[in-house]
Amino acid sequence: MATVITEECINCGACEPECPNTAIYEGDVQWEDLDGNLQDPIAEDIYYIAPQKCTECVGFFDQEQCAAVCPVDCCIPDPDNAETEEVLLERAKLIHPDADIPDPPPSRFRS
Ligand code: SF4
Ligand code: SF4
Repeated sequence: MATVITEECINCGACEPECPNTAIYEGDVQWEDLDGNLQDPIAEDIYYIAPQKCTECVGFFDQEQCAAVCPVDCCIPDPDNAETEEVLLERAKLIHPDADIPDPPPSRFRS
């Protein structure tokens, strides 16, 4: 699953700098895809996560960093976008081709 931000978001901005993949954007702000192209905002009034860039922090942390800092616990696994650890790890490697990701990787699936 990619992580998703629910409508409970209070726009505090705490999550955005914590994401290892710059997958979090303020509402109404365009997001940059993996090819460097700007895409339309996914949410207007609350922060949002670009699923194409979210790895649930697999590869870098054993817990979703957005969820760890969110004061209202509104960063949750997206029940409509289930993904395996393998898929998420491949995405992490795609986003960070030069990163030295340990094997086994830090992962919420192993914590
Ligand atoms: Fe970023 Fe991790 Fe949150 Fe996904 S779960 S948006 S990778 S901080
Ligand atoms: Fe919204 Fe939580 Fe991010 Fe704050 S930390 S902007 S409340 S999702």
